[in-house]
Amino acid sequence: MLVVMRPGATAEEVRAVVATIEELGYEARPMPGRQRTTVGLVGNDGRVDGSRIEALSGVAELIHVTKPYKQVSREWRSEPTIVRLAGGVTIGGADLAIMAGPCSVESESQILEAARAVRAAGATVLRGGAFKPRSSPYSFQGLGREGLRLLALARAETGLLIITEAMDAEQLDLVAEVADIVQIGARNMQNYSLLRSAGRGGKPVLLKRGLSATVQDLLLSAEYILAEGNPDVILCERGLRGFDSVTRNLFDLSAIPVVHHLSHLPIIADPSHGTGRRDMVIPMARAAVAAGADGLLIEVHPTPERALSDGAQSLDPAQFATLMREARVIAEAIGRSIPVPVGASA
Ligand code: PEP
Ligand code: MN
Repeated sequence: MLVVMRPGATAEEVRAVVATIEELGYEARPMPGRQRTTVGLVGNDGRVDGSRIEALSGVAELIHVTKPYKQVSREWRSEPTIVRLAGGVTIGGADLAIMAGPCSVESESQILEAARAVRAAGATVLRGGAFKPRSSPYSFQGLGREGLRLLALARAETGLLIITEAMDAEQLDLVAEVADIVQIGARNMQNYSLLRSAGRGGKPVLLKRGLSATVQDLLLSAEYILAEGNPDVILCERGLRGFDSVTRNLFDLSAIPVVHHLSHLPIIADPSHGTGRRDMVIPMARAAVAAGADGLLIEVHPTPERALSDGAQSLDPAQFATLMREARVIAEAIGRSIPVPVGASA
């Protein structure tokens, strides 16, 4: 439930609402807004009797959130969440955030070469897995801690921010030392203990949609992170298991406007895993920008044919530069932009 205060309600009136919510055995989350303060009531499983709260002075109205997810819903918060990162990079505002790099960190020269290339084309965040969730236990599992060290090196050399995956709560602390955004992968979208740990950590979280998760499942998973106190969640559409093997996954473009309708959280698109095919990454990246995605996550490898994971869907640096040029034009056509960072070429 949301308690909407009257414009100009005093701090004392807000405190009385908080105290009453706590007396009733729930948790109160005051949210000062530009026009007025709202106080969220969390911890309820079902409808709350609001008669005591409604009678308090300064209360304008009570809104019963009708969705099973609360804090991530548009009902809870009508303005979009803007995740703010170092260096003025934002996700969820007018600017699109472009995250690019190899599927896995493979070596110092590979990650540095990839970082320089994506930076030159205008990405602001470098991606690269150090801990890799692979379908086969015999496939390359990532460099682990050494991969994190190499990402930190790439950050120091290029100034790019870092996104990388944590697969369990233990890795979360290690990853958070290096990452500006912690990725929770599709296979872990419903790993509730990992979600809770990420909710208690201080780093923004990129939550990828599970392989067969509904949009509601995705939003409920995000709710776990917000419920623990971390508001900085970025959702990611990365394709669903389909029945047609012509693409690796079925890229659900409609999830982008659907999520924007249901939630205030930003959603970015990953057309690399979404299609699994290099020749389809650029067309679907263009489509995702047109659909209103708040950013892109793109696999780029200096030599895709030699990649240790996901080479078939990785762009080479020249293809990525083309994608950036085209995506910029589309973003501008719908009133958004992809800023050109200092030192990058438009
Ligand atoms: C990845 O980003 O490399 C990855 C493993 O993604 P997903 O969890 O979407 O499969
Ligand atoms: Mn990958």
